[in-house]
Amino acid sequence: TPLIKKVEAIPVAMYGGRHHVTMLPGGGIGPELMGYVKEVFKYAGAPVDFEVVDIGDENSDLDYALTSIKRNGVAIKGNIETKSESASVVSRNVAIRNELDLYVNILHCKSYPGVPARQKDIDIVIIRQNTEGEYAMLEHESVDGVVESMKVVTESNSDRVARFAFEYAKKNGRKRVTTIHKANIMKLSDGLFLETSRRVAKDYPEIEHNDMIIDNCCMQLVSKPHQFDVMIMTNLYGSIVSNVVCGLIGGAGLLSGKNYGDHYAIFEPGTRNTGTAIAGKNIANPIAMLSASVDMLNHLGHVQHAELIQRAIEKTICEDKIHTPDLGGSARSTDVVQRIIDHILQADIRPW
Ligand code: ATP
Repeated sequence: TPLIKKVEAIPVAMYGGRHHVTMLPGGGIGPELMGYVKEVFKYAGAPVDFEVVDIGDENSDLDYALTSIKRNGVAIKGNIETKSESASVVSRNVAIRNELDLYVNILHCKSYPGVPARQKDIDIVIIRQNTEGEYAMLEHESVDGVVESMKVVTESNSDRVARFAFEYAKKNGRKRVTTIHKANIMKLSDGLFLETSRRVAKDYPEIEHNDMIIDNCCMQLVSKPHQFDVMIMTNLYGSIVSNVVCGLIGGAGLLSGKNYGDHYAIFEPGTRNTGTAIAGKNIANPIAMLSASVDMLNHLGHVQHAELIQRAIEKTICEDKIHTPDLGGSARSTDVVQRIIDHILQADIRPW
């Protein structure tokens, strides 16, 4: 039995048949990407209204953003920049995930045919513990020149991440779950994570379970990535491995990530980049954020609108090959969005 009793989800906000969703544009390219989401939703007729909360500035009101997400149940988010290097200033991205107990991050890394990439036909699901591990943000300087940083691993969180992964595998017809760890060195922390996943695996005899040390995993991902199906790992490994797999498939601009807890959900670009250097230049790839918006529509149950936008994305990048510079193309962000909207307006791709 699970260590933590599963709580029923709180219903998401809906008024007059339309969902209300919190939109946190974040810094860098976040605001322009959110503008594209709004445009695409307008043409797709997606029944969603956004409550935009800007917490880009370090003095802005994080509590207000949290209240809004708690009220709406769902948010779409860009990355919020933490400019300060002081240990006392916590990342608001981490604070939001911790406060809402979004204990799991899911990145479905699926290749888009026709998009230039280092590896083809990848289909890997990375399930990452999202609230503890090295992100516990417990660091201090014990004496001058000696810094301690705590990596916190709990059995209860390891249990619910593992259970989430096996349930995900079962529901989505996946065959194998691989636990990624460094339990040969971090015998207690990663040891607990690994042991917990092995115990949970026993409840799912139909799904194969194995494990791999993180260093070997990185090498295998680069040389033989097709061996992986569903992977589970602690927080920091998850961040690194997610970036490796995104890099194999087409970079930071393509994939989306989902953050779930028992009550709330936040959708965002998979590699959580701010993209400050490319902001305002009309070159950011809009696909990762649009894909996050498709995930959000699916979560809200607007599966037909999600399907419509997904088909328009695929036609634009796989068939028409309208690619921004990060994918080796010369299209501007707005060219990609315009083509997606053109497809949305064509009757032949509508799922209804
Ligand atoms: P900065 O945030 O100042 O750009 P950084 O090195 O921290 O610097 P990240 O935001 O972490 O950059 O992004 C990593 C890389 O991915 C950068 O080269 C960035 O330009 C690129 N990138 C991120 N998002 C996108 C996107 N949507 N389209 C194209 N490139 C992107």
